[in-house]
Amino acid sequence: MSSNPSPPKFKLYNSLTRQKQEFEPLNREHVRLYACGPTVYSYAHIGNARMAVTFDQLARVLRFLYPRVTYVSNITDVDDKIMQAAIDTGREIGQITRFFEEAYNQDMAILGVTPPDIQPRATEHIPEMIALIQSLIAKNHAYEVNGHVLFHVPSFAGYGGLSGRSRDDQIAGARVEVAPFKKDPADFVLWKPSTPDQPGWESPWGYGRPGWHIECSAMAETHLGLPIDIHGGGADLKFPHHENEIAQSCCAHDQTDLAAFSRYWMHNGFLTVNGEKMSKSLGNFTLTHDVIARGIAGETIRHAFLSAHYRQPLDWSEETLARSQKALDKFYRVVADLTDKEHLEIIDTAPPTEFLEALCDDLNTPKAYAVLNALAKKATVEKTAAALSDFVASARFMGFLTQSPAQWFAQKPTGSHNTSPELDASEIEALLSERTAARAAKDFARSDEIRDELLSHGITIIDTPQGPEWRKSH
Ligand code: AMP
Ligand code: ZN
Repeated sequence: MSSNPSPPKFKLYNSLTRQKQEFEPLNREHVRLYACGPTVYSYAHIGNARMAVTFDQLARVLRFLYPRVTYVSNITDVDDKIMQAAIDTGREIGQITRFFEEAYNQDMAILGVTPPDIQPRATEHIPEMIALIQSLIAKNHAYEVNGHVLFHVPSFAGYGGLSGRSRDDQIAGARVEVAPFKKDPADFVLWKPSTPDQPGWESPWGYGRPGWHIECSAMAETHLGLPIDIHGGGADLKFPHHENEIAQSCCAHDQTDLAAFSRYWMHNGFLTVNGEKMSKSLGNFTLTHDVIARGIAGETIRHAFLSAHYRQPLDWSEETLARSQKALDKFYRVVADLTDKEHLEIIDTAPPTEFLEALCDDLNTPKAYAVLNALAKKATVEKTAAALSDFVASARFMGFLTQSPAQWFAQKPTGSHNTSPELDASEIEALLSERTAARAAKDFARSDEIRDELLSHGITIIDTPQGPEWRKSH
């Protein structure tokens, strides 16, 4: 067991300063984190899940380092895509959003995502958004025109500082739907009118609904207070969403420093398919829900995400999953060997410093994973409870090895051969003999395969000097 007198310092690549920096929370007693969550009009795709796992892993590290962490991740439950889904399916908006919010949380839980401490819904924060918009109008950063309220981009000199976009790029990237009303082509919507059949709320500007960006400014401030410590989301949100959030929040509080809204910004890279960003609009998406339904373990999907550094793109394919499944099979085999054959116990312990240092280096999960492999090897060689426990504690810190080896090997994806739950004694004996023969022939791949198959039926092999024995494990 490693002693860990002073935990490592956490370093984070701050998208705002474009530098890796030592993380210093405003208040060391309470770290406050906000990440932009899903728009709930259908199941989340694998790219959305990457964001959820990335920020879950960040929250795990922060919770280890600091006494209190509040992690807020919102649910966008008012949006034109949701309105379209209601038209397409004939279902009520509220039914759609609650259903997919629940589905999202269930699927993320399977990926080992601890629920955020607060998961605010946009529709439950309309008064806060209206108050922010009123303040922006009072301070001449926003104006009303034809039932719309628009943020006036030239009123904020710092605009573009997060994304580094030039004025031309900003205009090209801004939505053009209300172009005729805009004082400036880069201006964006804070509030827009709704027809009576559309979702809406009464406001000083008539019956309408908020633009997307204002919800996060309002919910971050309401639940965390400003400035928050870390704000994040996928890299696609840097512009315009996060740029607009900064403009709204800074201007509402007469701040010119971009860090007055959030002190650090963190963006996960894209999950791609053949090099292209996975997205619903491109149609190249895989739903997390469907991958889970195929019987792929949540740990396997999580492993696939964490095998790449969060800022790098990660290309999604069946091979990505197969590699992760194999890597986890290996980890579970190490645990099965050491607990069943060597009778070692897993002791509750903190992960060793070397492992934590890797994660504290801008959440370097590939480096942490390399340490994990070294710890697995060390445990196999040393065969001590301490080495095994260091390995298991580290793996669990990343959300792996959360089940028993028997459970793990029992849940094979649909279509695999390991679906029958019961084997009779003669079948077990036959497989054991085949394994003994395979080992004698040094065909360890086959002998491991047989061992995994037996484990999948809840049968553990114990190698004794008299030869292999078996027992039913639980
Ligand atoms: P959305 O539901 O599209 O608003 O996205 C929810 C979260 O997932 C946001 O933080 C997005 O930035 C993130 N996200 C969406 N697509 C991807 C992708 N292909 N790769 C990584 N993150 C993504
Ligand atoms: Zn947001």
